[in-house]
Amino acid sequence: MKRLATLLSYVGVAGVIAIGIIGLAVSTAPWQPKPAVLNQAWGWVQSCTSVVTEKGKNPNGTLANVAWKTFEPGAFNDSMPGAIIGLTIRTPGVAIDTIFIDTEHLDTVWVIAHELLHHVLADESVWGTAHPFIPFFFPCHLMGMQQGTSIGLMGQGSGQKQKSRRTP
Ligand SMILES: [Zn+2]
Repeated sequence: MKRLATLLSYVGVAGVIAIGIIGLAVSTAPWQPKPAVLNQAWGWVQSCTSVVTEKGKNPNGTLANVAWKTFEPGAFNDSMPGAIIGLTIRTPGVAIDTIFIDTEHLDTVWVIAHELLHHVLADESVWGTAHPFIPFFFPCHLMGMQQGTSIGLMGQGSGQKQKSRRTP
């Protein structure tokens, strides 16, 4: 048992270090989306989640329960393809979720709406996945591949390929 306790304490230290490293790349200053952007994003989420049952909703899912923060582009990138441009952190037992938006997308309504959709939905234990098809893909149309410029660029002959983007 002692060995297990020692092992667990190591895991604890590793966790703190990881959080500390992320902390370096993340702004600690509170930030608030522009009212026009926020209103549009909130309206989007409200209208497309009318299909979600009460069980599927976060009982604390209100705008007042969101703390907004920003991060430098690339700060949260991992081994998955595509840059992370938004992130919602939910702590069990805490009503307030923290939404991180990268500084290149602070006025991008769908990115704000995507993260707000995470906030208003119940957690993965209810849905079984972070991005349930209903409502993320339909009816909300809030997945990166549905909003991404790669689709928009098709047929425009620019030949430019945008990096794919993710909002976990
Ligand atoms: Zn997401």
